[in-house]
Amino acid sequence: MTDPALTPALARVRAGALCAGCGACAALAPGRVEMAVSGAGFLRPHQTGPVDAATDAAIAAVCPKLPRRNTRTCRGSRRAKRRISSRVPSVEPSSTSTIS
Ligand code: SF4
Repeated sequence: MTDPALTPALARVRAGALCAGCGACAALAPGRVEMAVSGAGFLRPHQTGPVDAATDAAIAAVCPKLPRRNTRTCRGSRRAKRRISSRVPSVEPSSTSTIS
């Protein structure tokens, strides 16, 4: 069960133990979300005040650990990589090449 005081975005991050400790959420909600060292020694967001829906949406958009909505999906990115890799000829490493 998630902490009911958390914003939906932060609750999703906490539920999945996804946080990277970047601090972007705290930067978007100064005085309401602060970074603190967790028991495991990692920086994690700590919500200290109410966060409005617009700020929560901004956190969800900027958090590197939450999936982007209305943008390319991972599946789309894989398709794009396949398309690109099919056009680029493979290059075998040369055993005689040197780096100067
Ligand atoms: S923006 Fe996301 S990854 Fe960064 S500190 Fe906040 S919850 Fe963690």
